[in-house]
Amino acid sequence: MPGRESGGSGEVASALLRTLGLTVLERGWLSANQAVFRAAGAVPASVVDTGFSGHVEQTLALIDRALGGERLGRIVNTHLHSDHCGGNAALQRRGGVETWIPSPSMAAVERWDEAALSYRLTDQPCPRFVADRALVPGNSIALGEASWQIHAAPGHDMDAILLFEPQTRTLIAGDALWEERLAIIFPELVGEDGFGPTRATLSLIERLDPRAVLPGHGRPFADVAQALAASRERVSAFERHPERHAQHAARALLMFHLLEVRQAPFDELVAWMRQTPIYRTVTRRAGLDESGAADWAASHVRRLVDDGVLLQHDDQVAVRPQAQ
Ligand SMILES: [Zn+2]
Repeated sequence: MPGRESGGSGEVASALLRTLGLTVLERGWLSANQAVFRAAGAVPASVVDTGFSGHVEQTLALIDRALGGERLGRIVNTHLHSDHCGGNAALQRRGGVETWIPSPSMAAVERWDEAALSYRLTDQPCPRFVADRALVPGNSIALGEASWQIHAAPGHDMDAILLFEPQTRTLIAGDALWEERLAIIFPELVGEDGFGPTRATLSLIERLDPRAVLPGHGRPFADVAQALAASRERVSAFERHPERHAQHAARALLMFHLLEVRQAPFDELVAWMRQTPIYRTVTRRAGLDESGAADWAASHVRRLVDDGVLLQHDDQVAVRPQAQ
Protein backbone atom coordinates (compact mmCIF):
# COMPACT_ATOMS: atom_id res chain seq x y z
CA MET A 1 0.00 0.00 0.00
CA PRO A 2 1.24 3.50 -0.63
CA GLY A 3 2.41 5.36 2.41
CA ARG A 4 2.76 2.50 4.82
CA GLU A 5 4.96 3.44 7.74
CA SER A 6 7.56 0.83 8.48
CA GLY A 7 8.21 1.72 12.07
CA GLY A 8 9.93 -1.62 12.38
CA SER A 9 7.91 -3.80 10.06
CA GLY A 10 9.64 -6.76 8.54
CA GLU A 11 12.74 -7.77 10.39
CA VAL A 12 14.07 -4.35 11.25
CA ALA A 13 13.50 -3.44 14.90
CA SER A 14 11.57 -0.28 15.65
CA ALA A 15 14.00 0.39 18.54
CA LEU A 16 16.79 0.78 16.02
CA LEU A 17 14.83 3.32 13.97
CA ARG A 18 13.85 5.22 17.13
CA THR A 19 17.49 5.39 18.20
CA LEU A 20 18.32 6.99 14.89
CA GLY A 21 15.38 9.42 15.08
CA LEU A 22 14.16 7.88 11.86
CA THR A 23 10.78 7.00 10.35
CA VAL A 24 10.70 4.93 7.17
CA LEU A 25 7.84 5.66 4.81
CA GLU A 26 7.42 2.59 2.68
CA ARG A 27 5.91 3.59 -0.64
CA GLY A 28 5.11 1.68 -3.81
CA TRP A 29 7.03 1.35 -7.07
CA LEU A 30 6.21 4.70 -8.62
CA SER A 31 7.40 6.60 -5.55
CA ALA A 32 10.55 5.48 -3.78
CA ASN A 33 10.59 5.20 0.03
CA GLN A 34 11.40 8.12 2.33
CA ALA A 35 13.65 8.05 5.36
CA VAL A 36 12.43 10.91 7.57
CA PHE A 37 14.70 12.17 10.38
CA ARG A 38 13.53 14.32 13.28
CA ALA A 39 15.57 17.41 14.08
CA ALA A 40 18.35 16.81 16.63
CA GLY A 41 20.21 19.74 18.16
CA ALA A 42 21.53 21.90 15.34
CA VAL A 43 20.67 19.26 12.73
CA PRO A 44 17.39 20.13 11.00
CA ALA A 45 14.63 17.65 10.24
CA SER A 46 15.60 15.87 7.05
CA VAL A 47 14.18 13.57 4.40
CA VAL A 48 16.08 11.15 2.20
CA ASP A 49 14.40 10.90 -1.24
CA THR A 50 11.10 12.54 -2.07
CA GLY A 51 9.12 10.22 -4.35
CA PHE A 52 7.58 10.68 -7.78
CA SER A 53 6.05 14.02 -8.82
CA GLY A 54 2.63 12.46 -9.46
CA HIS A 55 2.44 11.45 -5.77
CA VAL A 56 3.65 14.73 -4.36
CA GLU A 57 0.55 15.63 -2.30
CA GLN A 58 0.70 12.29 -0.53
CA THR A 59 4.46 12.59 -0.03
CA LEU A 60 4.16 16.00 1.62
CA ALA A 61 1.35 14.83 3.88
CA LEU A 62 3.29 11.71 4.93
CA ILE A 63 6.46 13.68 5.67
CA ASP A 64 4.50 16.26 7.70
CA ARG A 65 2.85 13.52 9.71
CA ALA A 66 6.15 11.74 10.35
CA LEU A 67 7.67 15.02 11.59
CA GLY A 68 4.71 15.78 13.85
CA GLY A 69 4.78 19.52 13.19
CA GLU A 70 8.53 19.96 12.92
CA ARG A 71 9.66 21.97 9.94
CA LEU A 72 11.62 20.11 7.26
CA GLY A 73 15.04 21.70 6.83
CA ARG A 74 16.89 19.40 4.53
CA ILE A 75 16.37 17.19 1.48
CA VAL A 76 18.92 14.48 0.67
CA ASN A 77 18.77 12.45 -2.55
CA THR A 78 20.46 9.07 -3.01
CA HIS A 79 20.25 9.66 -6.77
CA LEU A 80 18.16 11.74 -9.12
CA HIS A 81 15.79 9.30 -10.81
CA SER A 82 12.30 10.74 -11.12
CA ASP A 83 10.88 8.45 -8.41
CA HIS A 84 13.48 9.64 -5.88
CA CYS A 85 13.48 13.41 -6.31
CA GLY A 86 10.04 14.21 -7.80
CA GLY A 87 8.95 15.90 -4.57
CA ASN A 88 12.02 18.16 -4.30
CA ALA A 89 10.47 21.11 -6.16
CA ALA A 90 7.26 21.14 -4.08
CA LEU A 91 9.20 20.88 -0.80
CA GLN A 92 11.49 23.70 -1.92
CA ARG A 93 8.49 25.91 -2.71
CA ARG A 94 7.46 25.70 0.94
CA GLY A 95 10.80 27.35 1.81
CA GLY A 96 13.52 26.80 4.35
CA VAL A 97 15.04 23.62 2.92
CA GLU A 98 18.59 22.96 1.86
CA THR A 99 18.95 20.29 -0.83
CA TRP A 100 21.88 17.88 -0.92
CA ILE A 101 22.50 15.75 -4.01
CA PRO A 102 25.31 13.41 -5.14
CA SER A 103 28.31 15.52 -6.17
CA PRO A 104 28.61 14.11 -9.73
CA SER A 105 25.05 15.36 -10.48
CA MET A 106 25.61 18.97 -9.34
CA ALA A 107 26.51 20.40 -12.76
CA ALA A 108 23.58 18.72 -14.55
CA VAL A 109 21.10 20.04 -11.98
CA GLU A 110 22.57 23.53 -12.12
CA ARG A 111 21.90 23.79 -15.86
CA TRP A 112 18.89 21.44 -15.63
CA ASP A 113 20.21 19.12 -18.30
CA GLU A 114 17.29 16.72 -18.73
CA ALA A 115 19.31 14.49 -21.03
CA ALA A 116 22.09 14.02 -18.46
CA LEU A 117 19.49 13.61 -15.70
CA SER A 118 17.71 10.68 -17.45
CA TYR A 119 14.28 12.35 -17.67
CA ARG A 120 14.53 12.73 -21.44
CA LEU A 121 15.92 9.23 -21.92
CA THR A 122 13.04 7.62 -20.03
CA ASP A 123 10.36 10.24 -20.77
CA GLN A 124 9.63 10.50 -17.05
CA PRO A 125 8.61 13.89 -15.66
CA CYS A 126 10.53 15.59 -12.86
CA PRO A 127 9.82 19.21 -11.86
CA ARG A 128 12.92 21.39 -11.84
CA PHE A 129 14.57 21.93 -8.47
CA VAL A 130 17.81 23.50 -7.25
CA ALA A 131 20.71 21.85 -5.47
CA ASP A 132 22.46 23.62 -2.59
CA ARG A 133 25.07 21.16 -1.37
CA ALA A 134 27.00 18.19 -2.76
CA LEU A 135 27.07 14.77 -1.13
CA VAL A 136 30.75 13.93 -1.52
CA PRO A 137 31.78 10.27 -1.17
CA GLY A 138 34.24 9.95 1.70
CA ASN A 139 32.50 12.69 3.69
CA SER A 140 29.70 12.35 6.23
CA ILE A 141 26.37 14.08 6.78
CA ALA A 142 24.51 14.51 10.06
CA LEU A 143 20.97 13.11 9.91
CA GLY A 144 18.92 12.90 13.09
CA GLU A 145 21.04 11.77 16.01
CA ALA A 146 23.90 10.29 14.01
CA SER A 147 26.58 10.97 11.43
CA TRP A 148 26.10 9.03 8.20
CA GLN A 149 28.95 8.10 5.88
CA ILE A 150 28.52 8.96 2.21
CA HIS A 151 29.70 6.27 -0.23
CA ALA A 152 29.65 6.22 -4.02
CA ALA A 153 27.25 3.52 -5.26
CA PRO A 154 27.57 3.34 -9.06
CA GLY A 155 25.74 0.74 -11.14
CA HIS A 156 21.98 1.28 -11.36
CA ASP A 157 22.89 4.97 -11.62
CA MET A 158 26.54 5.93 -12.01
CA ASP A 159 26.16 9.06 -9.84
CA ALA A 160 24.28 7.39 -6.96
CA ILE A 161 25.42 7.42 -3.35
CA LEU A 162 24.44 5.37 -0.33
CA LEU A 163 24.38 6.39 3.33
CA PHE A 164 25.79 4.25 6.13
CA GLU A 165 25.58 4.75 9.87
CA PRO A 166 28.47 2.75 11.41
CA GLN A 167 27.34 2.58 15.07
CA THR A 168 24.08 0.80 14.34
CA ARG A 169 25.33 -0.46 10.94
CA THR A 170 22.25 0.85 9.17
CA LEU A 171 22.34 1.35 5.41
CA ILE A 172 20.15 3.64 3.31
CA ALA A 173 20.73 1.89 0.01
CA GLY A 174 18.64 3.81 -2.52
CA ASP A 175 18.36 1.48 -5.51
CA ALA A 176 21.79 -0.12 -5.00
CA LEU A 177 20.33 -3.04 -3.03
CA TRP A 178 16.79 -4.34 -2.76
CA GLU A 179 15.63 -7.33 -0.76
CA GLU A 180 14.60 -9.55 -3.66
CA ARG A 181 15.05 -7.87 -6.98
CA LEU A 182 17.73 -6.01 -8.89
CA ALA A 183 17.15 -2.50 -10.19
CA ILE A 184 17.72 -1.77 -13.88
CA ILE A 185 21.42 -1.25 -14.63
CA PHE A 186 20.92 1.84 -16.79
CA PRO A 187 24.47 2.25 -18.21
CA GLU A 188 24.21 -1.18 -19.84
CA LEU A 189 21.16 -0.07 -21.84
CA VAL A 190 23.20 2.61 -23.57
CA GLY A 191 26.29 0.45 -24.14
CA GLU A 192 28.37 1.40 -21.11
CA ASP A 193 29.71 -0.78 -18.33
CA GLY A 194 27.17 -1.04 -15.54
CA PHE A 195 27.50 -4.63 -14.40
CA GLY A 196 31.11 -4.11 -13.20
CA PRO A 197 30.25 -1.06 -11.08
CA THR A 198 27.16 -2.88 -9.77
CA ARG A 199 29.35 -5.75 -8.58
CA ALA A 200 31.78 -3.31 -6.96
CA THR A 201 28.91 -1.61 -5.11
CA LEU A 202 27.58 -4.96 -3.89
CA SER A 203 31.10 -5.75 -2.59
CA LEU A 204 31.22 -2.38 -0.85
CA ILE A 205 27.92 -3.16 0.89
CA GLU A 206 29.28 -6.56 1.91
CA ARG A 207 32.34 -4.87 3.45
CA LEU A 208 30.19 -2.36 5.31
CA ASP A 209 28.32 -5.37 6.72
CA PRO A 210 25.03 -3.61 7.48
CA ARG A 211 22.68 -5.01 10.08
CA ALA A 212 19.66 -3.31 8.54
CA VAL A 213 19.00 -2.04 5.04
CA LEU A 214 16.46 0.60 4.12
CA PRO A 215 16.01 0.09 0.38
CA GLY A 216 14.60 2.61 -2.08
CA HIS A 217 11.67 0.28 -2.71
CA GLY A 218 10.20 -2.44 -0.53
CA ARG A 219 10.33 -3.01 3.22
CA PRO A 220 13.42 -2.53 5.39
CA PHE A 221 15.24 -5.84 5.79
CA ALA A 222 17.94 -7.51 7.83
CA ASP A 223 18.91 -10.56 5.79
CA VAL A 224 21.60 -8.73 3.86
CA ALA A 225 23.59 -11.84 2.86
CA GLN A 226 20.55 -13.27 1.14
CA ALA A 227 19.85 -10.00 -0.70
CA LEU A 228 23.48 -9.71 -1.84
CA ALA A 229 23.49 -13.30 -3.08
CA ALA A 230 20.25 -12.78 -5.01
CA SER A 231 21.54 -9.56 -6.58
CA ARG A 232 24.83 -11.16 -7.60
CA GLU A 233 23.05 -14.09 -9.13
CA ARG A 234 20.89 -11.71 -11.11
CA VAL A 235 23.91 -9.69 -12.29
CA SER A 236 25.63 -12.89 -13.43
CA ALA A 237 22.55 -14.01 -15.36
CA PHE A 238 22.31 -10.62 -17.06
CA GLU A 239 26.03 -10.64 -17.87
CA ARG A 240 25.56 -13.97 -19.62
CA HIS A 241 22.42 -12.74 -21.40
CA PRO A 242 22.46 -8.93 -21.72
CA GLU A 243 19.40 -9.11 -24.00
CA ARG A 244 17.42 -10.41 -21.00
CA HIS A 245 18.47 -7.37 -19.02
CA ALA A 246 17.21 -5.16 -21.88
CA GLN A 247 13.90 -7.08 -21.89
CA HIS A 248 13.60 -6.76 -18.13
CA ALA A 249 14.30 -3.02 -18.36
CA ALA A 250 11.81 -2.53 -21.19
CA ARG A 251 9.12 -4.20 -19.15
CA ALA A 252 9.92 -2.29 -15.95
CA LEU A 253 9.99 1.09 -17.70
CA LEU A 254 6.75 0.35 -19.52
CA MET A 255 5.14 -0.59 -16.21
CA PHE A 256 6.42 2.63 -14.65
CA HIS A 257 4.85 4.62 -17.50
CA LEU A 258 1.54 2.80 -17.09
CA LEU A 259 1.53 3.43 -13.35
CA GLU A 260 1.92 7.10 -14.19
CA VAL A 261 -0.72 7.39 -16.95
CA ARG A 262 -2.93 4.58 -15.52
CA GLN A 263 -4.54 3.80 -18.89
CA ALA A 264 -3.77 4.24 -22.59
CA PRO A 265 -4.71 2.80 -25.97
CA PHE A 266 -2.55 -0.17 -26.95
CA ASP A 267 -1.25 1.58 -30.08
CA GLU A 268 -0.39 4.70 -28.12
CA LEU A 269 1.77 2.66 -25.78
CA VAL A 270 3.59 1.13 -28.71
CA ALA A 271 4.04 4.60 -30.23
CA TRP A 272 5.32 5.91 -26.88
CA MET A 273 7.90 3.14 -26.72
CA ARG A 274 9.01 3.78 -30.30
CA GLN A 275 9.65 7.46 -29.66
CA THR A 276 11.15 7.27 -26.18
CA PRO A 277 14.96 7.49 -26.44
CA ILE A 278 15.80 4.62 -24.09
CA TYR A 279 13.73 2.20 -26.20
CA ARG A 280 15.13 3.60 -29.44
CA THR A 281 18.62 2.99 -28.12
CA VAL A 282 17.84 -0.53 -26.96
CA THR A 283 16.20 -1.58 -30.23
CA ARG A 284 18.94 0.03 -32.31
CA ARG A 285 21.57 -1.83 -30.31
CA ALA A 286 19.59 -5.05 -30.86
CA GLY A 287 19.81 -4.42 -34.61
CA LEU A 288 16.06 -3.99 -35.13
CA ASP A 289 14.69 -1.87 -37.99
CA GLU A 290 11.59 0.30 -37.59
CA SER A 291 9.09 -2.50 -38.13
CA GLY A 292 11.10 -4.87 -35.96
CA ALA A 293 11.12 -2.22 -33.22
CA ALA A 294 7.35 -1.85 -33.50
CA ASP A 295 6.86 -5.61 -33.16
CA TRP A 296 9.26 -5.68 -30.22
CA ALA A 297 7.37 -2.86 -28.46
CA ALA A 298 3.97 -4.47 -29.10
CA SER A 299 5.24 -7.80 -27.77
CA HIS A 300 6.15 -6.15 -24.46
CA VAL A 301 2.71 -4.61 -24.01
CA ARG A 302 1.10 -7.92 -25.01
CA ARG A 303 3.24 -9.85 -22.54
CA LEU A 304 2.19 -7.66 -19.60
CA VAL A 305 -1.45 -8.22 -20.55
CA ASP A 306 -0.94 -11.97 -20.97
CA ASP A 307 0.83 -12.13 -17.60
CA GLY A 308 -2.16 -10.45 -15.97
CA VAL A 309 -0.15 -7.42 -14.87
CA LEU A 310 -2.18 -5.13 -17.16
CA LEU A 311 -5.83 -5.30 -18.12
CA GLN A 312 -7.03 -4.86 -21.66
CA HIS A 313 -10.57 -3.84 -22.67
CA ASP A 314 -11.00 -3.38 -26.41
CA ASP A 315 -8.04 -1.22 -27.40
CA GLN A 316 -7.47 0.24 -23.90
CA VAL A 317 -4.74 -1.07 -21.64
CA ALA A 318 -4.87 -0.21 -17.93
CA VAL A 319 -3.09 -1.00 -14.68
CA ARG A 320 -5.00 -3.10 -12.22
CA PRO A 321 -6.86 -0.91 -9.71
CA GLN A 322 -4.79 -2.07 -6.73
CA ALA A 323 -1.49 -1.40 -8.50
CA GLN A 324 0.33 1.71 -7.38
ZN1 LIG B 1 16.68 4.63 -9.39
